[in-house]
Amino acid sequence: NFSLEGETAIVTGAAQGLGKQMAIGLAEMGADVAIADINYEDATGTAAELDGETDVVAVEVDVTDEASVEAMVDSVTEQLGPIDVLVNNAGIAGNAPAEEMTYEMWRNVLSVNLDGVFLCSKHVGQQMLERGGGQIINISSMSAMDVNVPQPQAGYNASKAGVSQLTKSMAVEWADRGVRVNAIAPGYMRTDLVDEVLEENPSMEETWLENTPMGRLGRPEELRDLVVYLASDASSFMTGSVVVMDGGYTS
Ligand code: NAD
Repeated sequence: NFSLEGETAIVTGAAQGLGKQMAIGLAEMGADVAIADINYEDATGTAAELDGETDVVAVEVDVTDEASVEAMVDSVTEQLGPIDVLVNNAGIAGNAPAEEMTYEMWRNVLSVNLDGVFLCSKHVGQQMLERGGGQIINISSMSAMDVNVPQPQAGYNASKAGVSQLTKSMAVEWADRGVRVNAIAPGYMRTDLVDEVLEENPSMEETWLENTPMGRLGRPEELRDLVVYLASDASSFMTGSVVVMDGGYTS
């Protein structure tokens, strides 16, 4: 059963990119959705665009700030009701060679990509545990397993590896209390962000395609369908899984 009729979902970092696609997928399956983003202006635009069959609202949040995360949980609960689905999607890249990476850059990446997942999961998780149910989906990356050359991204890779292990830890702690926690490890998906990288450095595409057995980048809607699957009862025996979706890149 893939239906999310009457459920409430939060997608962090959903003002644009993959998060927006995930929000579209969850709303299509019947969920009310909160577009939670540090970029409130774009989140408002996205929410207005998606609002329709179900309620879609914008919420301002900085996932690295615990007070802001608590305010997000209160605001969504008040506007849409208790939270059934949390997608921890907000993430940043911060590429730089390790020997040149400032501590500030390192902290920024770890803070958004890993601390953010912890803080949102902790506070939404408390509510889910009280109610005895909920689904958390963390967006990791194939970079959690493989180091992608030629991009130097030590902080990113380490943060995403952390997300995968944090997923399993929370899944085990909460498994007998109805809260499922899974992660998705996507390969390169065709987003505006990826297109920008390719505009600056077109040769990168060849390297990526060479390393992807399927010979193409992922489509955001392919990821969207996997999020719906993990958010719904269709995946009811899955917890602690890190589902790879990368066209064979890490195989
Ligand atoms: P994106 O840059 O298009 O979107 C990220 C969103 O997160 C933005 O709307 C941004 O405002 C928001 N954000 C940033 N910092 C935040 C904070 N502190 N609090 C709240 N929101 C914040 O990125 P994307 O390509 O859509 O990637 C989304 C996720 O997917 C990330 O976690 C990324 O690591 C992961 N991912 C992407 C790819 C890819 O190919 N695009 C591949 C693997 C994994």
